[in-house]
Amino acid sequence: MTTPQRLDNASPVIAATSAAERFGVIARPDLTFTPAIARETEHLYERVKQFIPAFEWPVYAPYVHAINRIKKERGAVILAHNYQTPDIFHCVADIVGDSLQLARDATKVDSEIIIQCGVHFMAETSKLLNPEKTVLIPDGKAGCSLSESITGADVRLLKQRYPGVPVVTYVNTSADVKAETDICCTSSNVLAVIESLDSDTVLCIPDEYLAMNVAKQTKKKILTWKGHCEVHERFTAAELLAYKEADPTIEIIGHPECHPDVIAVCDFAGSTSGMINYVKDKRPARVLLVTECSMASNIQAEIKDVDFIKPCNLCPHMKRITLPKILDSLLFMTEEVLVDPAIAGRARLAVERMVNLKQ
Ligand code: SF4
Repeated sequence: MTTPQRLDNASPVIAATSAAERFGVIARPDLTFTPAIARETEHLYERVKQFIPAFEWPVYAPYVHAINRIKKERGAVILAHNYQTPDIFHCVADIVGDSLQLARDATKVDSEIIIQCGVHFMAETSKLLNPEKTVLIPDGKAGCSLSESITGADVRLLKQRYPGVPVVTYVNTSADVKAETDICCTSSNVLAVIESLDSDTVLCIPDEYLAMNVAKQTKKKILTWKGHCEVHERFTAAELLAYKEADPTIEIIGHPECHPDVIAVCDFAGSTSGMINYVKDKRPARVLLVTECSMASNIQAEIKDVDFIKPCNLCPHMKRITLPKILDSLLFMTEEVLVDPAIAGRARLAVERMVNLKQ
């Protein structure tokens, strides 16, 4: 019997029964590519044919078909982040978006089972907002360099050092860290969250570059931490300027987890949703998205009149989620995400304050 996976870094919590015991397991289906499967997945292949060669579709299609069928049988919903691969994003996900959208949509989900295709802090956030639901992540080792840069004990020390200074924590953190926090933020609402606080000084943790970028937009003093996203910290201003030099018509759109020197040479900076909306509204002829490279593929499938330049920085954690692992999640009800009740209430409050913030 599978033991539910613990994903916070506080004391362990084991559910009285595993998700497999509560919901039962389903035998692995036959994954042969048949003419019936070809027919029933044809419309889905249309969405991803730019990225998956026709000769590879017979490998993907049986998984896509089985996941969509078993998802219905289980009454489960699949949430997928913008950085998931196009096969997941376009063929099996029910709800897609950035961290804030997924956190908000997680509160509106009717299904008893949520499969989170993203990294584990996202699954924890879904569990915090849906404590009565069963939240599964297809690979519990899908971590995040930002989330792992800080612990709840670190935040307690910061609070001792800066008494009375409110703590704004990026959602890319464990529940243990969120529990020590006044309010969470995402890259799309960080400025609004900071401006909502009645204090001239704010601790904005753990992403140093996000904090440095938002510090340029507010009069408040911003204190931070030395956490970085291992994907976005790799971009350099020199690399982007070389693209501009080669083609001055390229529009460069950056994510605020990049270093401020990188953001300084971008035509626009915003969260993944902000970047998507910018491309949809402005329709630049050529665009370079300074972020995880699956996102460009995911919007390219919808926006055919824009030429996407993709400096391919992949997030190794996001890429741990695959179709075979999603299928296993649905069959065997693994890996269940649990949050210690001792911290869940406080962590939930920090997320809810952000979700309920009027913007
Ligand atoms: S892209 Fe960066 S912030 Fe997002 S999960 Fe990967 S390491 Fe974390």
